[in-house]
Amino acid sequence: MLLRRCHASAQDHPRVNNVTHASRYTKPVTEIREFIRQLPKAELHLHLEGAILPSTLVELSQRHDKSPITLAEAEALYRFTDFSGFMLAFKAVTGQLIHPEDYELAAWRMMQRLAAQGVVHAEVYISVGVIYLWRNHDPAVFEPIFAGLERARERAHAELGITIYWIFDAVRHFTVQEAERVFRKAAELRPAHPSIIGIGLGGDERRTGSAPYRALYAQAREAGLRLTNHAGETTGPEAIWEALSIGSERIGHAVSATQDSTLVQELKTRSVPLELNPTSNVRTGVCPSFAAHPLRSYFDAGLLVTLNSDDPAFFGSDIANEFLLAHSVQGFTREELRQLAANSIRASFLPESEKAVWLSRIESSYTTKVAGSRSV
Ligand SMILES: [Zn+2]
Repeated sequence: MLLRRCHASAQDHPRVNNVTHASRYTKPVTEIREFIRQLPKAELHLHLEGAILPSTLVELSQRHDKSPITLAEAEALYRFTDFSGFMLAFKAVTGQLIHPEDYELAAWRMMQRLAAQGVVHAEVYISVGVIYLWRNHDPAVFEPIFAGLERARERAHAELGITIYWIFDAVRHFTVQEAERVFRKAAELRPAHPSIIGIGLGGDERRTGSAPYRALYAQAREAGLRLTNHAGETTGPEAIWEALSIGSERIGHAVSATQDSTLVQELKTRSVPLELNPTSNVRTGVCPSFAAHPLRSYFDAGLLVTLNSDDPAFFGSDIANEFLLAHSVQGFTREELRQLAANSIRASFLPESEKAVWLSRIESSYTTKVAGSRSV
């Protein structure tokens, strides 16, 4: 199959215009929003720090600063134009996460927002490498912070009915030793905290690939941790091959896979889940538009694609909105949205028994709520 590259135009896809017309005149946006909200789904690529809304940042600043940031200033901070600007804003926000209670608040607000969108399970990246960096690598600081996160998780499970797993994320362009500290902590805490499901590598791919982390990934796997990895966001398909070669089970972004048909075939044959984040890629300049994102071509090629929000507060979107954009911009039908939701459950690290429950609910929600309107 010929795959479109990221910079293909919306006009290249005939469904786009048809769906825009259909959405405008026969399927009110409120109706499809409700369909999406009621669809049980998992969010698999979401950074805790990137889910901190400007309003929460103001709240945190009021706790810490003599002259707290205003809402307008907070909103301005989130308006960046390229990947480097995004990294700077991310750094400024994480600087407001000082005490365990700050993390607890940020996590709780994030979980409330997830539940409101019909997310039933989320696997959330915690930038443990950044936590250490801000605290001069003091080994004693992490446990109290993690205890705050766990309080939020348990509260969300009890009050909102949502399950959360944590993925400890290291910053790839720091040192291998710093990543080792992060992954070792995950392995050390996991026996007492099974909510720590895996590890990941974020940061600037252009500066450091995956190969230096081969031994650490093998050790993490030995410790029972699942392996995710950001790859092919700002780099070419060779970065995705490299991520696969060190045992990465899920690939975050994977935008550049579209440039390599052999890689696409490999991802399909192995059913490697892809954590796609279209709006994130548009906002950081990786893709010129949502229409040009390879989501549709990957889906049509039979890849195990999932839709995610990455850093929803920074990118002005969220998972429900990504589903809505997939429908309105890339012509995903309700049946295809249901398949995306099912993919998110299949690609999660939930036990198979829990996956079966959610997959059955997705199927029944579809057949009971939209029977008779199976087209777009
Ligand atoms: Zn990410």
